Amino acid sequence: MNHKNEIALVTGASRGIGAATATLLASQGYTVCVNYHSRKEAADQVVREIEEKGGSAFAVIADISTEEGVATLFAAIDAQAQPLTGLVNNAGILFTQSKLVDLTAERINKVLTANVTGSFLCAREAVKRMSTERGGKGGAIVNVSSGASRSGSPGEYVDYAASKGAVDTLTIGLAKEVAAEGIRVNGIRPGFIHTDIHADGGEPNRVERLAPRIPMQRGGEPEEVARAISFLLSEDASYTTGSILDATGGVV
Ligand code: NAD
Repeated sequence: MNHKNEIALVTGASRGIGAATATLLASQGYTVCVNYHSRKEAADQVVREIEEKGGSAFAVIADISTEEGVATLFAAIDAQAQPLTGLVNNAGILFTQSKLVDLTAERINKVLTANVTGSFLCAREAVKRMSTERGGKGGAIVNVSSGASRSGSPGEYVDYAASKGAVDTLTIGLAKEVAAEGIRVNGIRPGFIHTDIHADGGEPNRVERLAPRIPMQRGGEPEEVARAISFLLSEDASYTTGSILDATGGVV
């Protein structure tokens, strides 16, 4: 389906899974809002690459874990002439290799506000704009969870795993809450994907270390997750809501 004259917002889209998703959605006709936190050059590059391929995109700096950031982000979307019909709650952070006994309130709150509060706030604003009961034309939301929400990630990052558990529950509850308003809400659980999140978290070669434990014997690529996200956002998933799809190479 061609989504020309519709906006899709991808949070945390300057690199990794977000950048791959923004690029794919733009190729399907969406005007993509490329949200970023700090890497302006990288976000501008994503927009440039989309435009070079004939697509349409714009970059907006905003910290999605705060009310102010989310207000700025959605004001930039409202300034466009087109309606928002897609949201990918992709922005997230993790810090690796700590047991619970070593975690501070500061670290736990950082992870929870970025991964949970950010997803809640962006979903709230998207629903206000998409709801057919409020004059919107409906839409779809995809929340990026993690295989960690099921494994719990003991000894590595139980805070991150629990934050993604909260994201899964948001998916299930919100899907039911807005189903009659023309909005579908689904989740995706990536497994071990080759992105810079692992280096930022403290272990650049994490995916290679864990590859032997993956049934498919390899880490995933951001584009492979982007295609699964695109499916959930699309009309091909028109009767699918409240579900969480694994993109884990067979890890359950
Ligand atoms: P990434 O670090 O490249 O992307 C995450 C992006 O989110 C970054 O660009 C970061 O700046 C942005 N971000 C973080 N906090 C933000 C905030 N408050 N406001 C705006 N942007 C913010 O890593 P990625 O692997 O592409 O991660 C994308 C999503 O996929 C994350 O939610 C992550 O938890 C999830 N995920 C990744 C993996 C993996 O193995 N790479 C596995 C499971 C889930």
